[in-house]
Amino acid sequence: MTVLVTGGAGYIGSHMVQALAEAGESVVVIDNLSTGFSQFLPQGVPLFIGDAGDENLVEGVISAHGVESVIHFAGSVVVPESMRDPLAYYRNNTMTTRSLLNATVKSGVSRFIFSSTAAVYGNPDQVPVPESAPTRPLSPYGSSKLMAEIMLHDTASAHGMNYVALRYFNVAGADPQARMGLATVGATHLLKIAVEAATGQRAKIDVFGTDYSTPDGSCIRDFIHVSDLAQAHRAALSYLRTGGASMTLNCGYGRGYSVLETIEAVRNVSGRNFAVQYGPRRPGDIMTMIADTSLIRATLDWTPQYDDLETVARHALAWEEKLSREQQGEHQHAASA
Ligand code: UDP
Repeated sequence: MTVLVTGGAGYIGSHMVQALAEAGESVVVIDNLSTGFSQFLPQGVPLFIGDAGDENLVEGVISAHGVESVIHFAGSVVVPESMRDPLAYYRNNTMTTRSLLNATVKSGVSRFIFSSTAAVYGNPDQVPVPESAPTRPLSPYGSSKLMAEIMLHDTASAHGMNYVALRYFNVAGADPQARMGLATVGATHLLKIAVEAATGQRAKIDVFGTDYSTPDGSCIRDFIHVSDLAQAHRAALSYLRTGGASMTLNCGYGRGYSVLETIEAVRNVSGRNFAVQYGPRRPGDIMTMIADTSLIRATLDWTPQYDDLETVARHALAWEEKLSREQQGEHQHAASA
């Protein structure tokens, strides 16, 4: 009864592996370490360094470890990068998923959980956004994930597989014990930038647009704590194991906070009054993204634990402080060597 986690050394995947290991599950990871870190994995979890689209590798791991479910995180996630290099995204997200599905079907694995994104919706006609909303992605990133969702749906129908595709809203925060968190160099997520400003790693944070028709003029997002997101995947696994039918579910808290409120939360938890610069809108930004969470709450046995912006900000900050201490230690070590 082993669970294969692709991308298990990455930001979300490593929280998943930790949650599964803590629940006593047998876990095995495939990660090419392009953006992941092997030190994020708990002791004793086997790591195969390679591509989730390498069918021979996947089939070998499935058969050697008795894999019964696959949770697929491996992929590329940076929207502006997908605009510059769309084919990389169709390769890393769409083609990799196709190969992984092929290997999964050939190996007789019948449960699959897929990391999708709210980016499949594009600019929504209504918020909160239900799963039935039209899918009109505005980036190759969103399109590459939507194409993978479609393949998953068709493959599952043809081969007796059951799946849950989770469409993530804004994933944020870090492990409450700061064992892992977002460590990708150059990450542009709002909370990451804000905690970098709070820890003095950047001089200021820019607010992209204060003239939106929202209460304070800045954009609104539905932030979900990465540990709650991992628990949603565990709930999806239990759902599939008890015979649940294939589903596509939004994954957020169903409540939005503005960019300014988010920055204020980081100022509050850090006690540091870092500089904020109000600038023009960022091209391509959607004004308000909030998940309609009725379906996930009705379908999965999932109760979020960290549904509080200051808690998300506190965990993100604690992780950033640890990361910055480690990086300073490395620099001092290099300087004295
Ligand atoms: N944002 C900002 N300053 C930053 C980073 C982000 O004002 O340094 C805003 C961004 O314009 C958007 C929101 O924060 O309105 C969330 O952006 P992020 O890149 O975190 O996620 P997205 O919702 O774009 O996937």
